[in-house]
Amino acid sequence: MRNDLGAFLADGVNSPIPTPPNFPRRVISGRGPWLIDNNGRSYIDLWMGFGALLYGHSDALIANAVREGLEHLHFSSIPTPLIDRVSQQLHENYTCAERVRFATTGSDATMLAARLARHVTGRSRILRVHGGYHGGNEFPLSDGGLVKSVDVGDCVLFNDLATLGAALATREFAAFMVEPVLANNGCVPPHPTYLQQARALCSENDTLLIFDEVVTGFRLSAGGAQSKFGVTPDLCTLSKAIAGGLPLSALCGRADLMTDVFFPRGPVFHAGTFAGHPLALHVASAHIDRLNSDPPYDAASNLARIMGSHMDAEMRRLGIKGAVQREGSMLSVAFGVSAFQYGVLATNFDTRRFDIFVAEMAMAGCLMPPLPTETIFMCPAHAAVMDQILLATTTALTAVSRA
Ligand code: PMP
Repeated sequence: MRNDLGAFLADGVNSPIPTPPNFPRRVISGRGPWLIDNNGRSYIDLWMGFGALLYGHSDALIANAVREGLEHLHFSSIPTPLIDRVSQQLHENYTCAERVRFATTGSDATMLAARLARHVTGRSRILRVHGGYHGGNEFPLSDGGLVKSVDVGDCVLFNDLATLGAALATREFAAFMVEPVLANNGCVPPHPTYLQQARALCSENDTLLIFDEVVTGFRLSAGGAQSKFGVTPDLCTLSKAIAGGLPLSALCGRADLMTDVFFPRGPVFHAGTFAGHPLALHVASAHIDRLNSDPPYDAASNLARIMGSHMDAEMRRLGIKGAVQREGSMLSVAFGVSAFQYGVLATNFDTRRFDIFVAEMAMAGCLMPPLPTETIFMCPAHAAVMDQILLATTTALTAVSRA
């Protein structure tokens, strides 16, 4: 066995996300807020499995559910009753979820959402938001400037109702697919009436409103952003946090849009060997019950608020121009700007200072998402290490102020 890491991985990595200085290349275990690398060093994880983990690493509920699931039936080509149980749980939690189809990844769910929208409206174009991300499919790939291999299609700025209204008025769009809180262009909360008005504009123009809740679902609340903001889309996609870190996704939506349309009853093709994997469903079922009965949301939001206020205060004290934006337990920072209401990619933010911040945070023992477009995810397990997080933030911002 060769021990140089990544020897047989193409380009040595398995993702487009860079490994910043001072980051571990491999981690071997985790507990609560901690990740432990292959050299035995511990780090506080502020990335939390891309937001999937609401109760920290190696949570007993998830571990027990995996064990229990394995004892029952870990995989079969005929569904288990869990598919009915979890579809009912999604129905009870998500206002738009009159019907549900399961898949494996977020990209599967967004691809299926777009395919369904094209079929039911007879229109082919999907309108998206600049800097939104909907997975690695050909059509909805990020237009974040990182990806040059595909045409990402039609985009409007998040929070900009005038251009949204004008685009939808062409009546050429099958759907407006949007992350209700933008999580891939920095953390960008919607303006107070943005989602309501987007809902109205879509209805007026016979365009489906698709909330891509792959990040926000079960992260902002057990009913996602649609429950938090009181706006019901026609369809929504869920993934990361449903099964607390196991691969599972879902397309949810109106019964009239999702009845007799999927092949063979209709023409919309949906399939997947591991779609609605029984083990992931077993974990999802236990996880959703816990998210409802022991909600982590207030505690996680409070920690994100404390971290955000601390960063704001320290940036002021150190004379660093920058902005922190937060929604619930999600937050992100951009340097060189005073706000990013349309997303960081719509600004001239300072990438150099951001890179220094990430590297210094890692040096001080805190791993945050290494791209300025991604958001930090807090969970109640961070409460025990908040002092260390705030200290690391001060140390890293001090280095930024000197750079
Ligand atoms: N939609 C959103 C909003 C996402 O953030 C992501 C992944 N970051 C996806 C879709 C794609 O999910 P996956 O990586 O599981 O395919």
